[in-house]
Order: sequence, then structure tokens, then C-alpha cells
Amino acid sequence: MTRRSPTGVLAACAWMVAVPAVAQDSDGRAELFAHSEEFRREVIRVTDGVYVAVGFALGNAILVEGDDGVIIIDTTEGTDAAREIKAEFDRITTKPVAAVVYTHSHPDHIRGTTVFVGDGTPEIYVHDSFLPENRPTQVGRGAREGGNQFGGALPDPVRPNAGIGPRLVLGGENGYMEPTVAFQGERYLFEAAGIQVELVHAPGETDDQIYVWLPERRILFPGDNFYRAFPNLYAIRGVPLRRVDWWVESLAKMIAEDPEYLVPSHTRPIVGNANVVAALQAYHDGVKSVFDQTMAGINRGLRPDELAEAVRLPEELAQNPYLREFYGTVEWSVRTIYSYHLGWFDGNATSLFPLSDDDRGARVVELAGGVVPLLAVGAAALGREDYQWAAEVADYVLAVDEENREARLLKAEALEALGEVQISANARNWYLTSAQWLREQAGPR
Ligand SMILES: [Zn+2]
Repeated sequence: MTRRSPTGVLAACAWMVAVPAVAQDSDGRAELFAHSEEFRREVIRVTDGVYVAVGFALGNAILVEGDDGVIIIDTTEGTDAAREIKAEFDRITTKPVAAVVYTHSHPDHIRGTTVFVGDGTPEIYVHDSFLPENRPTQVGRGAREGGNQFGGALPDPVRPNAGIGPRLVLGGENGYMEPTVAFQGERYLFEAAGIQVELVHAPGETDDQIYVWLPERRILFPGDNFYRAFPNLYAIRGVPLRRVDWWVESLAKMIAEDPEYLVPSHTRPIVGNANVVAALQAYHDGVKSVFDQTMAGINRGLRPDELAEAVRLPEELAQNPYLREFYGTVEWSVRTIYSYHLGWFDGNATSLFPLSDDDRGARVVELAGGVVPLLAVGAAALGREDYQWAAEVADYVLAVDEENREARLLKAEALEALGEVQISANARNWYLTSAQWLREQAGPR
């Protein structure tokens, strides 16, 4: 790896030796594949009258049974998956839907609603900041260099899981139904089917995020502010920047509820007060540590690349099962915190009006004496497993000749090697989908 390690950074971060990220992740592949076990398809009985369907879709759907009706929390991303879940829920109870809650507006939580509701007209609750991104998440090709965080174009054996679910299952029609109650302020109480429900605004993964709290039974439904993976403080699919400090506050609020059960909208539930509080506390401490370290580094004048290299989870948190980087990563989080608070400019005057990628590529090709010698540099990098540099070299060539077959294949091979060692499903899927796209562009030999 060729990442910079300015002495200032090393002096300030004595615990941190400049270990390439890829080397740290060398066991990532095996761990990510083992993580698929989290998504074995099952309707889990959490406690009396509370069931969660895991593994049918990227998102879970949750059933809470009351006296004369049920509450559905989140409805998955598609009606095909929702129908499979509904059939399972019907074996538990066929009481009508008394209320639906959307924990937030992401498509994987709101597109199966019609299936659960049927002919009914229940209230559908959201926070009044609810802003539906009610459009299919891009799972096709061609966008942004063919990359895709869900890996929709990859064959199943290549894509073990999507980090927080087995895969995105957009099948069927869009079963989204508009909310009927959008509450204002922080906390909103209602009763449905004899169940007391509190909805609490808890910005984190999205600004419109809420958690659902059943105070009588101490059951907490955190939406997407908690799941068994390091949180996606930034989503590489491209989203507005997320407020990490708000996410930390929302986790503190959930801990303060002192729940007995935790039923997230991705991954499996946690049972028992001690287990729940320990998991939430670790999550809180992990995110807060990344935020605090990044802000401290910013205040010492570190640039984004320096911060990305310096900030690490404390070892005991890095090994916590709820903070493994199956989905979000610490490095992307650091960059998003920097961007949120300081914007895109890294403070280096050279970066004020930078060369375009194409211009820089042309100059590097010239410096190297042409495309052929530069491709030899890339091949040599590949040979010594210096994959990031190999990919960057390929980009310089592609900047001057975007159809250069050798450069496409060089880059594809480098991305495949980088993808195969990742623990983050998002990173793996993006690398491997881009590589697949490049090989298709390159055509048959
Ligand atoms: Zn989600």
C-alpha cells in the first residue's frame, strides 16, 4: 500500500502503526461469509405476541399481536417478500392490521405494505420529517462505474449477503402506502389493539428515523439505528451526509429506556436486559469513539486521508460482534464526519482548483513515457499484490483511453483482489460488481 503516513500523524497517534487496511482485513472474507448465518430465513418468536421475519428480504417485518388486531413495524422492500412473510404471519394470527409503523423512509421498509394491510384502512405512523425515497434503489448496471453496494448483478455464490440482510429483494409491485399520521416533536403516544405504543424521533441513519417503544413490556424496535454490523454512517450508494453525533444521542436515548428486548429492522433480535443494554452500549461507544477521534484529529489539523488512517475502534470494541464492519466501515465514517463538518476541501491549497482526473491521467501517462510502460507498472504492482496502486494506474490509462482493454482487465483483476478480502459486504459488492462490469466492457478475449 502506498498510503501516506506523515510523521505528524504517527506522532499524534502512537498506538497506530501504519498497517495497510487490506492486510488487517485478510480474514474478512471468511467472516463475511459466516455472517450469512445471521440471515437464515425464519420467523422468530421474540416473546409472547412479538414476531420478526428475518431473512426473507433485506429488511425485517415485525408483527406485534394485540387484543383484536396486530401492529406491523416495517414492511420490507417488495411485495414478493412481503407475501411470503404474510403467509407465515397468518399461521400465527389472522387478526386485522390495526396500525402500521414505518421506522423511516428507506425503500427496504415501506414497499410491502399493501400485502399486510389487505382491504383494511389502518393508521400508518411516521415522524413528520418522513421523506420517502420511494424509488427503486439502483440495482442495475451502468451507474457509477457499474458499482453497486447490494451486488444485485452478482451471482449468488459470489455475493454471500448484503451485510444487513441476505440481499435486496425488490420483487413484485411497489406496495407502498402513504402515511396517515405524521407526528411532530420527539415523542408520540398512541394505542392500537390494546397496546400502548410510544414513537420516539431518533435521527441517525436517517433524519426521519424513529424507534418504537412498548413501555408496558419493555420492548424496543430501533429501526435502522442498530443492527449486527458496524453502522452505515455513510452509504457508498450515495446518500445525503448523516449526522453521526445525532446517531450517538439517539443510541443514548435507547439505552435510557432500559429495554428487555431489542428487535431491529435488520438482523436478529436480542433478548434479556443485560444483553440488550450491553449491545446498545457497545454500539453507542463505538460510534462515539469514531466521532470523537475524528473531531479531535480535525482540531489538530489532520486532513481526511490522515484521519482515515489514524482513527480506529478501540480494540475491545473492534472485536465486539455488533461492531464488525460487515456493512459500514470506520474509514468511510471518518470521511463522512469530516465532510459533514468541514465539507469537501481538505485544507491543501493545491486542492482548491484541482486538475481533472482526465487531465491528471494524461500527465501521468506522459510522465511514465506512454501507455505501454505505465501498464507495465500496473502489471508489476499486481504481481506484488499492490492492488490499490494497480487500480490507480489502470485509472490513469483509462483517463486517456477509456476503452483500453488491458487497462480494463488490469483494473478488474485489482478490484477482484481487493473485493475478496473485504469484510464489508458493501465494499465487496462494489468492487466485484465494478470488476464484472469492466470485464463485460472489455469483451471476450
Ligand atoms: Zn434498512
